[in-house]
Amino acid sequence: MNAKLDTTVTTRPVTRQTFDEVLVPTYAPAAMVPVRAAGLDLWDQTGKHYLDFTSGIAVASLGHCHPVLVEALTRQANTLWHLGNGYTNEPVLRLALALTEATFADRAFFCNSGAEANEAAFKLARKYAHTKFGAHKSRIISCFNSFHGRTLFTVSVGGQAKYTEGFEPLPQAIDHIAFNDIEAARAAIGDDVCAVVVEPVQGEGGVMPADVEYLKELRALCDKTGALLIFDEVQCGMGRTGDLFAYMGYGVTPDVLTSAKALGNGYPIGAMLTTETLAAALGVGTHGTTYGGNPMATTVALNVLETINQPAFLARVKEAGAKLRATLEKLAADYPQFLSTVRGSGLLLGVVLADAFKGRSKDIQKAAEAQGLMMLIAGTDVVRFAPALIVTDAQIAEADRLLRVALDSLAAA
Ligand SMILES: *Cc1c(COP(=O)(O)O)cnc(C)c1O
Repeated sequence: MNAKLDTTVTTRPVTRQTFDEVLVPTYAPAAMVPVRAAGLDLWDQTGKHYLDFTSGIAVASLGHCHPVLVEALTRQANTLWHLGNGYTNEPVLRLALALTEATFADRAFFCNSGAEANEAAFKLARKYAHTKFGAHKSRIISCFNSFHGRTLFTVSVGGQAKYTEGFEPLPQAIDHIAFNDIEAARAAIGDDVCAVVVEPVQGEGGVMPADVEYLKELRALCDKTGALLIFDEVQCGMGRTGDLFAYMGYGVTPDVLTSAKALGNGYPIGAMLTTETLAAALGVGTHGTTYGGNPMATTVALNVLETINQPAFLARVKEAGAKLRATLEKLAADYPQFLSTVRGSGLLLGVVLADAFKGRSKDIQKAAEAQGLMMLIAGTDVVRFAPALIVTDAQIAEADRLLRVALDSLAAA
């Protein structure tokens, strides 16, 4: 062992340019490199401060380095990290109890990401239908503009062709229909369908909420045909809409629900929730993952769930969401050359760009970043805001002020 070399590799200077030299170029990260954060405050390598209205794409919902989570994770790190699935552990049992008590579900499967949670859901749907009805019932129906992850199965189910191009041959028996189109759903959901998957609020596809009538019709069509209704709540779940899960606000209960992102507040974890009957289709040996349900991730998620699933916390999310929505509506009215309608739910909000500015969401994001505001885009025509759920009124007002300076700078350019 060379102690000097160890010190060098762990502390040597790195810059944004290092990314281009040693990472697979799947991303085009911002020019600044964040080094430290607390709550919604973040600092880059130069010490510049940013107000974070992204929470890492709706992940750090309790803010960065939340003290309760830091304490829980540190305690667990000194207790037990990993076992493998030949053993269970106390945190995973407590998390499964808490999630099943809080939702429609009776059973939980844990994994490490949203894509894996959806992969498990799609495999469950195929396996259940195969066992109960036969191999002909294998079709999966999903919506255009949906996003369900980046594994080959989940990009194939996802409704954006740009993510599957070049990766063929793709998994078979997957059809896409227009989101919120009841007639298209009626035409597509027949007896050969094993699952219908939908995001109650489409995130990546442009922050588009489902109509309640649409979700009710999907429920009815699934009941009629024996297909499983899968809600992908990886982005819109865990308090983001002001309900613990979005399905609760809609009053439409799925057969399978997937969660990730905010479930771990930045510590990787995904979950698939389902009923006792359906869970039985995935018997011993049918599915699994090395890290799924490990004590570190489940300890964090348990504390996240306990913090978010409180009436006062969720009521405040609705209040802050209404405040941010009103702020963005006023902003759009004041800057009609850039912005038009506001849509979304709770603290997952999108602003559609004005026709004259279509295709340039990234320009607004960059202008905001220059002023010290981190925000998201959802495609080229929508800017997206997903601040931590603990965002204060003062932080919403500050984001508004920074956005106005940013838009003024774009207007002057
Ligand atoms: C982010 C996202 C996923 C994929 O989650 P990963 O953790 O990136 O695999 C799936 N579905 C939805 C709705 C998402 O927003």
